[in-house]
Amino acid sequence: MQLSDYVNTFGQDLLQRYGERVHKLTINAGFTCPNRDGTKGHGGCTFCNNTSFNPNARHPPSIATQLENGRQVIAKRTGARLFMPYFQAYTNTYGDLQHLARLYEEAIAAPDVVGLSIGTRPDCVSEEVLDLLVKYQQRGYEIWLELGLQSAFDETLERIQRGHTFAEYRQTLLAARQRGIPVCTHLIIGLPGEERWHNLESLNRVLELGVEGLKLHPLHVVKHTILAKQWQQGLYHPLDMSTYVSIAADMIERTPPEIVYHRVTATASMDILLAPNWCHKKWAVLNAITATLRAIHS
Ligand code: SF4
Repeated sequence: MQLSDYVNTFGQDLLQRYGERVHKLTINAGFTCPNRDGTKGHGGCTFCNNTSFNPNARHPPSIATQLENGRQVIAKRTGARLFMPYFQAYTNTYGDLQHLARLYEEAIAAPDVVGLSIGTRPDCVSEEVLDLLVKYQQRGYEIWLELGLQSAFDETLERIQRGHTFAEYRQTLLAARQRGIPVCTHLIIGLPGEERWHNLESLNRVLELGVEGLKLHPLHVVKHTILAKQWQQGLYHPLDMSTYVSIAADMIERTPPEIVYHRVTATASMDILLAPNWCHKKWAVLNAITATLRAIHS
């Protein structure tokens, strides 16, 4: 038994629709974030790693080079021939429209690219950006807007210094869906001050508004963050793995089957991860979620 026997995974969904595997290739397009540059805030989200904002990260190789490097790694491992560039680092709609169009166009230009996935903040997606994304859809590309909501509770969003509200998420989500742009919403399990019921209620609120995809993520404590200081002072206690697995399985079970899970856990690299230490064991977490779902269905 594998995860996709119990979860509508993005990998399986793409496989069925394209008849072969489609791999996401992560792109760093050199964006920054309004929650760090002073537009929305200075400190950033409490869990956001400051070293991500070092000068090298802001001047990455060209998109074509990143795609080619990613292609070679993936092709060796899996033989995949179709790709979806994923603008992941920072806020990938934070720039003037011409700049965004040039970057997206560069990513979409190769014949083996089937579409784009654009990760961003809910308060940073203008009507013009949505209209630009629609144009790619009209050209036959698959476009996903990935919105980092993390929690549907404004108290939590304030506590982790997100610099946006649930109402802003709602507004962007509805504007995207009105245009037929599918949205994948990111939620974090284990946020400070939150318990299982918060995660379930966040899921409810997201499902009520409507969404096409979801990503679940355990809260990582990584070096050089406000959260790391809170953890060191005993003010934040990370989740243990079994609690994470149980909450994630519960959320998956409450999700309508047509909604695609793009991810049900995430890892952080060992050189920056402080806690919880199980976060780097992606397969152990995935296997435990699969086993929990199997037990529920047996
Ligand atoms: S919105 Fe993203 S990039 Fe910006 S501070 Fe928060 S986690 Fe970091």
